[in-house]
Parts: sequence; structure tokens; C-alpha cells
Amino acid sequence: MNNEVNSNELLSLCKRRGFIWPSFEIYGGVAGMFDYGPLGSNMRNNIVEVWRDIYRGREGFIEIDSETVNPREVFKASGHVDEFSDLITYCTKCQSAFRADHLVKEFFDNPDVLSPKELDDAFVKHDIKCLECKGKLGPVEEFNLMFKTTIGPGSSRVGYLRPETAQGIFVNYLNLYRYNREKLPLGVIQTGRGYRNEIAPRQGMIRMREFNMMEVELFVDPTDKGWSRFPEIENDMITLVPNTGTETVTMTVGEAVEKGIIANKVLAYFVYTTQQFLIRLGIDAKRLRFRQHLKNEMAHYAADCWDAEVLLSFGWIEITGIADRGCWDLSRHAEFSGTELTHFKKFDEPKEMEVVRVKAKHKALGPRFKDKAKAIAEMMESKGPSDIKGGKLTLRVGGEDIILGDEFFEVVKVTEKVSGERVVPHVIEPSHGLDRIFYSVLEHSYAYDKKEDYTVLRLAPEVAPIKVGVFPLMEKDGLDDLAKQIYEKIHSPTMEAYYDGSGTIGKRYARMDEVGTPWCITVDYEALSGPSKGTVTIRDRDTTEQKRIPVRSVPNTLKALLSGKSFKDI
Ligand code: AMP
Repeated sequence: MNNEVNSNELLSLCKRRGFIWPSFEIYGGVAGMFDYGPLGSNMRNNIVEVWRDIYRGREGFIEIDSETVNPREVFKASGHVDEFSDLITYCTKCQSAFRADHLVKEFFDNPDVLSPKELDDAFVKHDIKCLECKGKLGPVEEFNLMFKTTIGPGSSRVGYLRPETAQGIFVNYLNLYRYNREKLPLGVIQTGRGYRNEIAPRQGMIRMREFNMMEVELFVDPTDKGWSRFPEIENDMITLVPNTGTETVTMTVGEAVEKGIIANKVLAYFVYTTQQFLIRLGIDAKRLRFRQHLKNEMAHYAADCWDAEVLLSFGWIEITGIADRGCWDLSRHAEFSGTELTHFKKFDEPKEMEVVRVKAKHKALGPRFKDKAKAIAEMMESKGPSDIKGGKLTLRVGGEDIILGDEFFEVVKVTEKVSGERVVPHVIEPSHGLDRIFYSVLEHSYAYDKKEDYTVLRLAPEVAPIKVGVFPLMEKDGLDDLAKQIYEKIHSPTMEAYYDGSGTIGKRYARMDEVGTPWCITVDYEALSGPSKGTVTIRDRDTTEQKRIPVRSVPNTLKALLSGKSFKDI
């Protein structure tokens, strides 16, 4: 069996067998858009379930589902309105559009860090022309990747389709924090669609315009970047490409933190968790590495950032990013929304501290607000100095806003016994591209025997879209009735079964192997009479070995296999 994959062959298998279909094909299709067919949907859901098992099950994180259309304010705060762009050039003759950095990738190691001017110069220096008509390329400019829309009739409220799911978690921070009884760490996950109007969608499912993400945002105390489960994995190995060179190194997770290669324990724990997750899905460990972002590649606020990269037929491709985003996200949303997004961190013992307070000037408030003065003073003193905007405090009293100048309050420093302080949590973010993971799992599971013209997808059972094929040897003599009874008994969303009674048994096995079905049950004549009456065969995809098991034990045997029991032990 040959594991070399031709991505076109794999994509054609995916299309033929109902994994993925190019969208809108009857209308000619749209580049970078795909629909998941029945097998693809099953497999994609199975991947999500493994992710949930790790993050909700093992780590106890909570899951939300937020809106995909967001008002402009959200992406202004996140930086996407101003920064989320790729560099584009249009042909001056035929108007074809190109991603400028892609045109020069053979001349630079890292073309995506080049400025528009450097790219313009590179076009001249290397005589780069339009790939379609050889025309002259126009000046390189920025192209924002977000799909813009309007919310409601008219065009007054600008919105965008979200380019990532993360912002839905950040803007819900206060709800989530309260739900978590105001404690850190607070781990939140979300899966759903992201939209990026890619200039040049290509390489099948690698660069899509509408894609699926599985994002994790973990809010932690900025002064505590440890992780209670770190000792469980610190001696396990991880494959890294640190940004100090280009070499791949293998070391323990503990060593990577000790040597300062990965910035802290909590980040290292989730880099390792990503390695565990991807290998559990069927990514080949030898074709997986974690590459640290170069200094000029990393977002300026990020303390550290690693990409999980897999080796595919296209080369090394990023499928997940794991970053320590510092306090950037919450600070920006706090600044732009005017809402405090912090955590109250209790001290072990109350401390004497100098604090800055807003103090009411009772002498001025009394004559002006009469019997309301006391309530206003209390409300005023519950505010902090950060609530003073342009020298004024706005209070809502009896449904009305009252604006107070500094004749009514002062800002004073006092020494108090305080029980804690407010801090802006830091965010650790493992952000997974679901479609890229889906495709990578397929490539790494693919095996083709050219001589026999035989394809097998060696999918991990928990990922496989169909768990078991159920066949009557012949569709007659009651073999079909028993096979159908078995199918009815075992088929469920978690034990997807497929009944097939047509064609030779060899062809039916081959059809199941081609879509990665780990086991097949066959009802033959021995099941109906003779010494083996009441038994059926079960076949293992990877060894093609067959065993006889009693009909009544089929459901439990399959459950045991699915939870990891080896075929040779049944
Ligand atoms: P990013 O926010 O750019 O780090 O993206 C997070 C993850 O989403 C990446 O690791 C990719 O797996 C995935 N991703 C990003 N852009 C696309 C795209 N255009 N098509 C498919 N997957 C994408």
C-alpha cells in the first residue's frame, strides 16, 4: 500500500462517496466553497465530538454558540476592521486579482511579512507579470477579508460576517464570568462558521471562504500561568520548530518550558493537548510539528504563538494556532465598549493598600440635589476613577442620566484594607480550523494499492463516518432478514451502520474500506444452521482478519471495539 496522496484523487473520492461536494455546482460553483455530504457531515461531527470530549469532558470548559453577523463595533475593537487584510494586486490589462505575496513566494522565505512597497519592487526586480494574460500588475494594496453587510433595512448599521468565532466569546465575557461564579480559570469553547473573503482560495479545503472553526478561549489570571494538570504531561515528548532557527527539535514539554522555548506552562499544556487531539484523530505524528511564530509574524500583543503544522501533499500547512494573547482582547473590548471586563482577584489575606477613590463633595451635592443627594453620593462613590470621562461622571438616577462635573466630586488617594484587586485576564487560545483538520485526517489515513487499484481510508474508529457495514452473504434465504435485524439493533447516531446487500461480498468490503469503515458484519449460511448457528463474521478493515461472534454479542462487541478494545482481543 502506498501512502502517497494525490490530492485530486482524494478530492474525487470525497466527491464520489459523499464526503464533500463543491458548492453550487449546478451553477458553475464558487471557488473556496464546499458542502459536506452525508459521510463528511458524520465525520466532521465526530471530530467535533473528540474536541468536546477533551475540552468539555476532560477540562470541564463550557460551550457557547454566538451570532455569526456582528456589528462593526465588535471588529473595530478586535482590530479586524483596520488590520484584517491581505495584500492584493490587480492586472492592469485583464483585471484578474492576485494575492501579492503568493506571486513572489519562490524568492522569499517569508513573503507574507513584505510591505506593499517591497512587493511592488519585487514585481519589477523579478519581472513578475499577470498569471492570466502576462499584463502589467498594478500597485499592491490592502484588501480587507471580511464580508461586509448591513443589519436591518437601509444601510445605517454596518455589520460583518465574523472571520473567527472568538469575538463572540470575548463580548460575552461578563456573562460567562458570572456563570462561572466569578472564578478563573474560565475555559470557553465554540464551534461554528467563520467567513473570510479570501483573494485566492485554493488547495481544496485549505483556503475556503466559508469555513468551520473550533475555538477555545481560556481566561487565566495574568500572574498565574501554570496549569494544575501540567505535571501529568510534563515528561511527554513534543515536536517543535522554535523561532530561533529552522530546525525541528523533539523534547519533553517540561524541558520546553524550562528552557524558555514555550513561554509558560499553561500555553505548553495546550500545545501538547493539541498534539494529543490531532494524533487521536489520526494525524500521523511523524508528519506533525509545532512551529513558533517568528517575531515579525506574531501579533504585537501576543506573548507567544505556535502553529500546529501537518505535512500534506501541498507541503507543511497550518491547521491550528495556539497563542498566548495576553490581555489584548478584553482590554480592547473594555476600551471600545466602556464596560469593565476584569476579574476580581482575592488576596489570601486583606492588605493595607493605597487606593484611588472617587469621593463625593457632600457640601455641593446637598444644596443642589436636596433629598436625592445621599443616594447620588453613594452611587458616585461606587464608581472608580476610570468612570470619569472628560472630567465628568455620568450617573443614571431615576431613569435619567445626570452629568456631574468636578465641583461635585474629587479623586483622592486613601489607605484602605482591601480584600483583592481587579485584573484583566489573559487569554490562551487554541484555534482549530475544522476543515483543514478534516482534510488532513483524510490525507493521513489514505492508502492506495496501485496494483490492485484498491483504496483504504485507515480512519480512527471514533472519527470514521460509518462504524460498521452489515451484509447478508446473499440477499435471500433469510440471510437478509437476519442482517436487517442486526442492522436495526445496532444502528444509532453513535454507531452509524450501513446495510448493503448488493454486489459481490468483496466489492461490498471494498466500498466500506474506501470510506474508512473499521468493521463489517456478514451473515452467511453458517449463521442459520449447523454447529455455528447463531453466529456471524466480523471483519477488521486494517488486517482484513475475520472472526465469528454470536449474533447476540454483536452490539457489545462493537461498543468494546469503538472504545478501544483491540480486534485480536475479541
Ligand atoms: P487564524 O485565526 O488565521 O489563526 O486561523 C485559525 C485556523 O483556522 C487556522 O489554523 C486554519 O486551520 C483555519 N483557517 C484560517 N483561514 C482559513 C480558510 N480560509 N479556510 C480554511 N481554514 C482556515
